Amino acid sequence: MKVFIACLGTETNTFSPIPTGEETFVETMFYDGDATQHEQNLFSEPLHVWRRKTEAHQGVVVESLAAFAQPAGITVRGVYEGYRDRILADLEAALPVDVVLLCMHGAMVAEGYPDCEGDLLECARGVAGPDAVLGAELDLHCSVTKKMLAAADVIVTFKEYPHIDGGARAAELFDICTAKHQGTANPVMEVYDTRMINMWRTPVEPMKSVVADMQAREGKDGVLSVSFAHGFPWGDVPEASAKMLVIADGDRPKAAAVAKSFGERIWDLREETQASTHSIDEALDEAAQIAEGPIVLADISDNAGGGAPSDSTFILREMIRRKMSNAMNGLYWDPVATRFCFEAGEGATFDLRVGGKCGLASGDPLDLRVTVRKLLRDAGQTFGSSRNRMGDAAWVTTDGGIDLVLNSVRTQVFHPDAFTQLGLDPAERNIVVVKSTQHFYAGFAPLARKVLYVAAPGAIPPDFAAIPFENFTDPYWPRVANPFGA
Ligand SMILES: [Zn+2]
Repeated sequence: MKVFIACLGTETNTFSPIPTGEETFVETMFYDGDATQHEQNLFSEPLHVWRRKTEAHQGVVVESLAAFAQPAGITVRGVYEGYRDRILADLEAALPVDVVLLCMHGAMVAEGYPDCEGDLLECARGVAGPDAVLGAELDLHCSVTKKMLAAADVIVTFKEYPHIDGGARAAELFDICTAKHQGTANPVMEVYDTRMINMWRTPVEPMKSVVADMQAREGKDGVLSVSFAHGFPWGDVPEASAKMLVIADGDRPKAAAVAKSFGERIWDLREETQASTHSIDEALDEAAQIAEGPIVLADISDNAGGGAPSDSTFILREMIRRKMSNAMNGLYWDPVATRFCFEAGEGATFDLRVGGKCGLASGDPLDLRVTVRKLLRDAGQTFGSSRNRMGDAAWVTTDGGIDLVLNSVRTQVFHPDAFTQLGLDPAERNIVVVKSTQHFYAGFAPLARKVLYVAAPGAIPPDFAAIPFENFTDPYWPRVANPFGA
């Protein structure tokens, strides 16, 4: 059995002002056919799993490109086409191939390509031929499209948000694809469109039980896999809504029925799963009441993981206006301010312009008097089992007593060690502001007295009814009360 593996992806926020070019891929993850020789991260982990499992089956692995970019705006056409054509050339050179396994995101948009994954799968099918088994693993923040379903034999998405199950889903995809290759299973896919745009947090109820039941349904009664593709709300693409995707063994009506029943359950939970958010004033009012912290405020609208710049100043400006102290706030992606801190050195007190540099969604920059407390080259933070780059990092304290962490590689806050490695302890602060939507939660919830999700202005605002879609024209909840009746 010859298995071809590759990774190409990013999550495209079509409203983000940041172009996604080659530099972002190189900075985030780029391996030229040797990803499995290096430490794994979220999007190379599937390749590690596929290599291990293929070799355990005495199979041969052909490994191509592994490229993933930190979410940002639309990918430059030539960059996407270059990576795609490189993978296709490697595939052609490897023919004949029994199984092709691609790790992708499912919400990648390039100039001229609203559905990069559908395009890549279609091209890969063309090269590998009709008899090869073609499988894809996607992030759950994906749009499952007709083009993907037509080209692939098997599509499996993450089930957990935060994404802690990339390795488990990779193993599941491998098992279903190799069963098809060996003739012991005949996977068929059916999709149910929930006609919803929302974010669903899976560690908490009611979604926790839905995910458990999806998993319990698998492997029984001819159901091979149950995925919930949540969609990515800030990707303006024609098929943006959340969809249930079920794979059954040769039985399309069964796959469709199971997809419909889970999809209707998620629809019925819509009010319950609608995120409760606070305005900046509400959150800071509540934080001011707490004598002993920390209260963790998530700046969900400026999450780099959703393509936002991570340099917006709306919450910080209001904290300064209210003269709040014993507070910390990060990560501010501000390579210029970070560089100034390194030039000035630890202990220096000087005037520094912070944040607000990337566009309207970032707000205005803040001119602050700061003291440089700690500098760290090549900082990193923990995410799952991997280390995530932060670049150069600077801890500065404003003259009003707010600690800020500035850094040079754009990333959301994943873990408290983003701060503690600099000597800054979130547990000792009353207010901790993290620029992240949900991935911060596992690390910060245990030390937080309370977690509030703050709907500040930004590049990924949480008002799903108001997202200015142009390419996604289907009626959807919550913009309309009943998109099925429309
Ligand atoms: Zn995701």
